[in-house]
Amino acid sequence: MSSDQTWKEKYFQELESAEQQEAHWKAERNALERMLVRTSLASAGQAPELDHLLEQVRADLRKNRVDVERWRQLQEQIDRQIALLDDVSTPNTGNNREPLSAELSEARPVAENAGDEDQPASGVKSSEDQSQRLRIARRVGHLLGQLLTQVSLESDAEARARNLQRALLSSDDWDELREGLNQVADLIVAAVTRSQREFEAFLKRLDERLVVLQEHFTVQSSAQSGREAAVEKLDRNIREEIEQVDQCIEASGDIHELKQSVSGHLELIGQAVNRFRVEEAEREQLLSAQLMTMQEKMAVMETHSEQMRGQIRKERERAVTDLLTQLPNRDAWQERLSFEYNRWKRYQYPLTVGILDIDLFKRVNDSYGHKAGDRVLQLVAREVKKRLRKTDFVARIGGEEFALLFPETLPDDARVVLDKLRGHVSALPFHFGGQPVTVTFSGGLVGFARDDTEESVFERADRALYLAKESGRNCIKVG
Ligand code: GH3
Ligand code: MG
Ligand code: MG
Repeated sequence: MSSDQTWKEKYFQELESAEQQEAHWKAERNALERMLVRTSLASAGQAPELDHLLEQVRADLRKNRVDVERWRQLQEQIDRQIALLDDVSTPNTGNNREPLSAELSEARPVAENAGDEDQPASGVKSSEDQSQRLRIARRVGHLLGQLLTQVSLESDAEARARNLQRALLSSDDWDELREGLNQVADLIVAAVTRSQREFEAFLKRLDERLVVLQEHFTVQSSAQSGREAAVEKLDRNIREEIEQVDQCIEASGDIHELKQSVSGHLELIGQAVNRFRVEEAEREQLLSAQLMTMQEKMAVMETHSEQMRGQIRKERERAVTDLLTQLPNRDAWQERLSFEYNRWKRYQYPLTVGILDIDLFKRVNDSYGHKAGDRVLQLVAREVKKRLRKTDFVARIGGEEFALLFPETLPDDARVVLDKLRGHVSALPFHFGGQPVTVTFSGGLVGFARDDTEESVFERADRALYLAKESGRNCIKVG
């Protein structure tokens, strides 16, 4: 009996403690659910897809229907969307962030031996290898996005490119990514081929129009020669009739007969003149109709070539602009250097050339990722451009190298400008991965001197830059 009693007591104790435990779990779960709903509401408004996924989470919570497997999938989708958001938000300096604090979600240090960003390091563990590959794919996706803002593609290729970009930015499936990377080259070829095709089509249309014009001129000139023949014929008719009148006057003795013959000939002359007038009016009508058609065609042609000129101007701008920084590129630099060099040869005004190179830039890439490096390049480019005179010129000629031209300026004066710029850039408040990062550059400056060529002056500027690096970086040397 007593053992029965003990068993019962134990049972009730267990039951009570299980009930308490359950009540506690319930309270905890309720609190967590409420927090989840609030956090998801606070995260809304960043991207429609993300909002939709968060709405599903809230709906499940509301209906008390949490299926673990389904939630695992939801969570993966949400992670992907967040990764996508990071990729989209970084180049934009305006989204409520302090402009220069280029905080990056993926700005975590990268393994020391990871080597260059664009080359998967050999001998690293396969998971590292995988993440390296994913980062490359993300970067290509990012570049593809930039490319898409610059080129015009046919609509199906455009749609393909957008899908591809989305996959590159969010997929973790390496097979899909590899396939995607292969397609990037096709798309670039498609973009280039398209602009070539458009230009060819334009030339063909132009040619067709010229043929039409040529035909017009032929018709005009044959109409003109038709008119000359008609005038000649009229002239001949009148002469013949008058001759006959003359003969009649000489031969005829009877005034009545003479009168009749003269009036007959006058009648014929009158008819010939009338015929000529009618034909002349027809010819004029034809010519003026043709003139109008020709004017209309000319107007269409003019509009079209104006459009084409605009398009060619845009294509040309693209060809000489660096995608990442929007500064002139190396080709533009060569062109401007030649132009200023020729002016210098002719007028002999002072002309200074400079090369800037960001210090220890590889470290920025290696420590905070390629995207942080890109951001530094964009911001430095922006600051340099902003602080130069309108007549000065700056181009991005390579990875983290910029070339400058200062017309009408001596090297020592250019040095004052660059030193100020250097101080300004080194004080920019860069932040990566929560840490403040200082970015500096070194520079070499030289003035064009007698017997200099474009190449020799550039080499001397490069040597001056090398000296600046040798003497500890973050300084400008005049060569
Ligand atoms: P130094 O002070 O001697 O110039 O050192 P550095 O690290 O700046 O010079 P180095 O030439 O060794 O490295 C330049 C780096 O610039 C290597 C390359 O990965 C990086 N780079 C080149 N182009 C780009 C680019 O478009 N974006 C990014 N993020 N990095 C680039
Ligand atoms: Mg360099
Ligand atoms: Mg450098």
